[in-house]
Amino acid sequence: MKYFSTRGGPQELSFEETVLTGLAPNGGLYIPTTIPKLPQNWQSAWQNYSFVDLSVAVLSLYISREEISESELRNLVVKSYASFRHPEVTPLKKLGDKKYVLELWHGPTWAFKDVALQLLGNLFEFFLQRRNEENSGANEKLTVVGATSGDTGSAAIYGLRNKANISIFILHPKGRVSPIQEAQMTTVTDPNVHNLAVKGTFDDCQDIVKALFADSEFNAKHHLGAVNSINWARILAQTVYYFLAYFSLRRAVGEDVQVQFVVPTGNFGDILAGYYAKQMGLPMAGKLGVATNANDILARFWKTGRYEKADSSPQDDTPSMQPAAGSSDGKQATQDASGVKETLSPAMDILVSSNFERLLWYLAYENVPEDDNDRRGKAGGIVAGWMSQMKSNGKVEVPTAVLEIARRDFCAERVGDEEILTTIQSHFLGNPSYVVDPHTAVGLCAAKRLAQHNSLSVAQVILSTAHPAKFSEAVSTALKDTPNFDFESEVMPREFNGLLQKERRVIDVESADVELVKSIIEAKV
Ligand SMILES: *Cc1c(COP(=O)(O)O)cnc(C)c1O
Repeated sequence: MKYFSTRGGPQELSFEETVLTGLAPNGGLYIPTTIPKLPQNWQSAWQNYSFVDLSVAVLSLYISREEISESELRNLVVKSYASFRHPEVTPLKKLGDKKYVLELWHGPTWAFKDVALQLLGNLFEFFLQRRNEENSGANEKLTVVGATSGDTGSAAIYGLRNKANISIFILHPKGRVSPIQEAQMTTVTDPNVHNLAVKGTFDDCQDIVKALFADSEFNAKHHLGAVNSINWARILAQTVYYFLAYFSLRRAVGEDVQVQFVVPTGNFGDILAGYYAKQMGLPMAGKLGVATNANDILARFWKTGRYEKADSSPQDDTPSMQPAAGSSDGKQATQDASGVKETLSPAMDILVSSNFERLLWYLAYENVPEDDNDRRGKAGGIVAGWMSQMKSNGKVEVPTAVLEIARRDFCAERVGDEEILTTIQSHFLGNPSYVVDPHTAVGLCAAKRLAQHNSLSVAQVILSTAHPAKFSEAVSTALKDTPNFDFESEVMPREFNGLLQKERRVIDVESADVELVKSIIEAKV
């Protein structure tokens, strides 16, 4: 299996090169040359597989044996998921007659990004070790640099801590990530982990990281690696739990199970994994449900066919996000100017959705006539054109035929902060009583609306992306007037005890300055 860029070009990469490269040089994302089909007997052969068995089975379809043998792959997968607290890794929990949640947060940082980043860390280490063994005398190292507003940083740190030949530098805006997230990141004291608390905003952190990657001299010298959600290995790792959920549900309700997955979405990574699972042949009776918060560029796309940063629809009732003239508050001005809305589900607060480009490629491809002998090349050209319009105008409108293709596999809903709070309340008061985090609440609320269009036989699986203790503010706000609710005793896992008091290691970066960050990295690697 080889991989190529969504923006075209003849270059084809191995899995290893794809994982180590991240973003293609032409700005595109890597996708596989074909989406593999499931083996004929997959339903019977895989039905009782564990998470690890399913990972090996699914990942093998995308990774050539010559690159990673089956036993090597199994070792990597076993090691990656040994860090999860639940024996099923991602268990399915029944909340209602036709409503289930897939709990993806039983990993080290209590959020779904662990599923992918635990594997990615082991893949990085495996590839580097092999390169250094095969080429004796070589001493290849990787310097992973990333910016975070919370979840990605902690999951990346836990994925890469203590890995040979890898250093990781995570920039976060000082004082602007939640206390639990900050503690999860900075209490990891392995020598290869470096937390940089930058005086500035998340955007400042992201700009610094972008500048480092764009600096070819610095990049070549330190061999920079990326862990953000455009990395192909992250998508691939996430396809596995769609299969696990399908089989769990089949055991619960019978062989003719009909399923709809609903996924809280920001950068379109988690749900894109579901699209791959479906294209491989996993039966999905209901369309994949895209659930966005008030940062609803995706929900608007499915409504209008326009992929557009700013919401220009006249019926919109949200206040203008333009910064007030003369605003002196740096934080407000920056966030308003970029247009990202601060919601109760911060891990989904995005302006554009980076993995959506991968879906756009498949939509473009399907819209090129089947008998065209340069179908792949044409699709790459179309996507490159769309993305350049997006870059220069902040928007692009796809042809109606393309929107119709998108609507065949997906439906979309937007969920506001008020609904997040009422959804958390109604599930706490429900039977079974269940405390959900604000991101999962976005999925649950969207699922409720989408269920109205489903036939009665369809069961919904909502992907639960974080443990509620990680987002205590939203959960406490939602449940503050509920009698008998006590956050400490009902939500806080005992593993969090003492976390806030543990020893921390963090480097203060006094100004959001690229040169300053460069000098810190140089001094530490
Ligand atoms: C990252 C994240 C999401 C969004 O996932 P995408 O793959 O970007 O769509 C949702 N919920 C939580 C808790 C997250 O950390």
